Amino acid sequence: MNGWERPVYWAERCAIELLYRTGISHVTSHWDGGCGAIYLFHSATPERYLHIDRDIRTSPQFLDRLLLHLRASGIDVISMDAVPLRLKDGNRRRFVAITFDDGYGDNFVHALPVFEKHGAPLTIYVTTAMLTGSFHCWWLGLEHLFLRHSIVEIAPMQRTWRLQSLRSRSRAYRETCNWIIADVRSRSAALAPTFARYGVDLAELTRKAGLNHDQLRALAHHPLVTIGGHTTNHPDLSQLPHSEAYGEIVENKRFLEAAIDTAVNHFAYPFGTAGTCGQREAALARRAGYHTATTTFHQCLTNPLSQDLMLLPRVGINRPYECIGLARLQIDGTLATFRRLKARASLRRRPYDPAEAI
Ligand SMILES: [Zn+2]
Repeated sequence: MNGWERPVYWAERCAIELLYRTGISHVTSHWDGGCGAIYLFHSATPERYLHIDRDIRTSPQFLDRLLLHLRASGIDVISMDAVPLRLKDGNRRRFVAITFDDGYGDNFVHALPVFEKHGAPLTIYVTTAMLTGSFHCWWLGLEHLFLRHSIVEIAPMQRTWRLQSLRSRSRAYRETCNWIIADVRSRSAALAPTFARYGVDLAELTRKAGLNHDQLRALAHHPLVTIGGHTTNHPDLSQLPHSEAYGEIVENKRFLEAAIDTAVNHFAYPFGTAGTCGQREAALARRAGYHTATTTFHQCLTNPLSQDLMLLPRVGINRPYECIGLARLQIDGTLATFRRLKARASLRRRPYDPAEAI
């Protein structure tokens, strides 16, 4: 299959690099850059064109460039264990922590050697079901489906795809993902007959993609690695009753601690968006015994005094946008500043509503 990349990605990366080189991030870092940031990644794989799901993948080559850049820029790379201390101790040196979600096996195979090369710490948040193969990784199933068949019928979506190029496969994959994400619970379950008809074995795909027990133990006892919790089944915790949500958090913690014979002190909420985690989930994670919990709220660690350790924000970089410019615009708060200014501008544009003034 020929390599293909949407030209718009290349153009956008160039624009991002140019923006970074204007020096704007020096300015925004005073407003929204805070004292540090936490990066979020998922899978790390060197194959550029074997995957059409690029949003959850990063390349080891980019991780290598990123770690080189951070060191050259005097930005400390620290472990999640060290984050609470750095938020309190008033050290003015900027820092980042680097995290990977879900528990992909390639974190061991491809990411770890890069971090070893640079002597940099990383945290891997592991979902129990990723290890047992019971994780309903519908996105892996879809990727398998669209890469291996030239005609794909998704009956619940009432769509039939005719696929020739990698570009058409990528578009079909993205449109189907967007359709599922609008109602993950029921639509992902509705795909089961489609997977069965095309012979897609989700459990097998998940077992191949996930860490195995030996890799987990090796990572857990590696001096650069911290293992964190990520629930048993990766649900949207906000949709679960109190006791069920707590069970998802605490049983995963117990499972991991038994598997690696080490305390697991850090947690990441599945999805981690504002709609899927908040004060209730933070209280549950604290009650389970976690010291920190990370979200996917796209911000830097801005205010050491008010930063809630159980709702720490993270910034992400997906494969199509892998570039040092974006990595810096994220941790220097430039994108947060843009979002803030945009929100303020849209507030000003709203017509005056006398009811709001009451
Ligand atoms: Zn996750």
